[in-house]
Amino acid sequence: MDRRIFLKNVGIAGAAAGLSGLVPGIVNAKNYGARNDLLIKRQGKVVYHSCLRNCADRCLLKFYVQNGRMTYVEGAAEQPKTGSCPCVKGLTYVQYTYSPDRILHPMERVGVKGSGQWRRISWDEAYSKIATRFKKIIAEDGANAILPYSYSGNYGAIGMYAASERFWNKVNARELDRYVCAYSGTYGVFSALGTSDGPDPEDSIYSDLYISHGWNEAATNVHVLKYINKARDNNCKVIVINPIRTPLASQADLHIQLKPGTDVHFIAAAMKCMVDNNLHDMDFINRHTVDFDAVVEQLKTVSIEKSLQICQVSEEDLLKFIELYSTAKLAHWRLGYGIVRNYTGGRIARAACLLHAVGGHYAKIGNGLTYDNMQAWGGGNHDKIRAKHLRTDHDVEHTNITELAKALDPVNPTSYGKPSQLVKAMLFYNGNPAAMAPEAQKVLEYMQRDDLFVVGFDFNMHDSMDMCDIILPSSTQFETSDIIGSYGFYDVQVCEQVIEPLGESKPNLTFFSGLAKAMGYTDPEFDATSDELIRQFLETDSPFFEGITYDRLMKDKFVKVVDQRPYFGSAKYNTTSGKLEFKSQYMVDKGFHPVLDLGLVEDWMGEKERKLPFRMVSPALIQRMNCEFYNVKYIRNFPAYTVTIHPEDAKEQGIADNDQVRVYNHRGEVFLTAVLSSQVSRGVVLTVKNNLRRFNPNGSKTCTNIITTDRLADLGGCSAYHSTNVAIEKA
Ligand code: SF4
Repeated sequence: MDRRIFLKNVGIAGAAAGLSGLVPGIVNAKNYGARNDLLIKRQGKVVYHSCLRNCADRCLLKFYVQNGRMTYVEGAAEQPKTGSCPCVKGLTYVQYTYSPDRILHPMERVGVKGSGQWRRISWDEAYSKIATRFKKIIAEDGANAILPYSYSGNYGAIGMYAASERFWNKVNARELDRYVCAYSGTYGVFSALGTSDGPDPEDSIYSDLYISHGWNEAATNVHVLKYINKARDNNCKVIVINPIRTPLASQADLHIQLKPGTDVHFIAAAMKCMVDNNLHDMDFINRHTVDFDAVVEQLKTVSIEKSLQICQVSEEDLLKFIELYSTAKLAHWRLGYGIVRNYTGGRIARAACLLHAVGGHYAKIGNGLTYDNMQAWGGGNHDKIRAKHLRTDHDVEHTNITELAKALDPVNPTSYGKPSQLVKAMLFYNGNPAAMAPEAQKVLEYMQRDDLFVVGFDFNMHDSMDMCDIILPSSTQFETSDIIGSYGFYDVQVCEQVIEPLGESKPNLTFFSGLAKAMGYTDPEFDATSDELIRQFLETDSPFFEGITYDRLMKDKFVKVVDQRPYFGSAKYNTTSGKLEFKSQYMVDKGFHPVLDLGLVEDWMGEKERKLPFRMVSPALIQRMNCEFYNVKYIRNFPAYTVTIHPEDAKEQGIADNDQVRVYNHRGEVFLTAVLSSQVSRGVVLTVKNNLRRFNPNGSKTCTNIITTDRLADLGGCSAYHSTNVAIEKA
């Protein structure tokens, strides 16, 4: 049977309908001969549903529904953050939902793994086959041999966690540590501030300096740009610290284009410059910090010249930075997830917190450091909705998501450097391991193991689905209800069900509850409805959620969490001392310097990799979200198989613009199209993260993550994708 199952009378019309979302403002064009068939799509029932991509904006969207069909999407203008327009990705949600590639029935593999031969089966058959296999594995090898794999394809409190974790807890399956993002920075920031919560990005309007550090607002926080622009109208200056010239960097007052992973050296040079020239804020330091003496002592050993050489920043840029930074009254530091995906990531995050304290930039609105705001997400009652009490075996292994290849290794499986039990079954959902995990070639090969039972639950075919024994059709987020808190802004928001599930697809909660019943589990937790779980999520003691009730949320569609802002500045830090800590015992325990650790990415590389000429960074593309949106033709047309290289480096390698090139290291190779640009410095190449193999136009089914590192970062077990060295040659 063809893998592409089309929904009769839906897919075809849907592909056209989706385009309507790409024409903002068409309603005002009525008098200019606009097409009535597009205009009419903005009529019908309006449903509010938040975007559940892994994006700091968390837009609240308004869907128009007619005769049970989603016809148009726009931003909910009622919410200032979103305004009337989502990003280029959000605008395609009608196409995304009715994509002709939707999987709409369960299927079973009939050929060898990867051959693409399937037969349609019923849900009852699928449940029975999975339950039978799981029970056999549990009886013979224990539940530790079953690995759930998922990440952020659905970021709803239910879709991401509650639906599946109550099932895995009951099974006592192996635990997956989903530390792709943020964790090294979280631990680094905690070591100084005692929290990773920071100011609302909307407060940027009060700042006279905005520092974007390792963050591409245009890709995953595009709605913050209007707040930055508003501040700039009031003469706010903008500094961007990033190895890549991002769209914001191209308009900034200063772009510090440093070598990836060397940020602590730049920060150390800046700190020394400030302290030596008496530009630090002693009043703030005396009132709110401890152990400043240790900073002074360490700075005696720092050479500005040497530090600038290491991070490849000019003295002129350092002095401009100092001028802007030390004259700012209200400086908002936005620390991004780009820098933390490095072997030095946690240490960089910590260093940024410390410099901001030396500048005295925490105590007022408009000041502060925003990293991973968890008030609106972490404040919900996660323990309850995930039914943690159902787990009876707490001694199962943990597999780090970045180390998937090591976990699936048939000969020498390991976990966190220790021997591990062989994985006998993997069920993946909300993720695409064969494109997303580092060492992606090994992951793909190991997924082909005959003794590994693989089940994929998703709504599109992708690289991992090809390796399945059983494929199950999931619904999109719009075909059920959920609740979500932002990890950037301060809002808790609704996700109302927009349409009924297409074909035989099931929302995550329905699927896992059904599988639980097929396993013979009779716990009432598997009868819970989305509505009950949303209510449970809001039953929390978190002070951030005070006054946020189910009725209020359903009426208003979004509610801001209670502002705890004084906590970040004028009051008390959540550290042992109650103050910002320049010296950290935690860092010492981890083997690092207690103040600023000046270790380098290269220190953690093998000799072979260290000698390769280019550092490769692979951040998000504006038009993609990880492996998602490849099902939308409009989005697929934006190139995702490029490698950007500095023109001088390209010349030395004999590479011209648009050449097909081979980018490689000891892990493997990926074939890409060369783009020559000074968007990157010399010695750095820029690729795209999580591009799918199947759409690579360069003649081979290769993707970026074949060559990215699976070694973990310095803190928190975080991934370190950007600490990858490569060579490049004309293909
Ligand atoms: S991907 Fe981000 S910016 Fe785009 S619609 Fe979703 S939340 Fe908004």
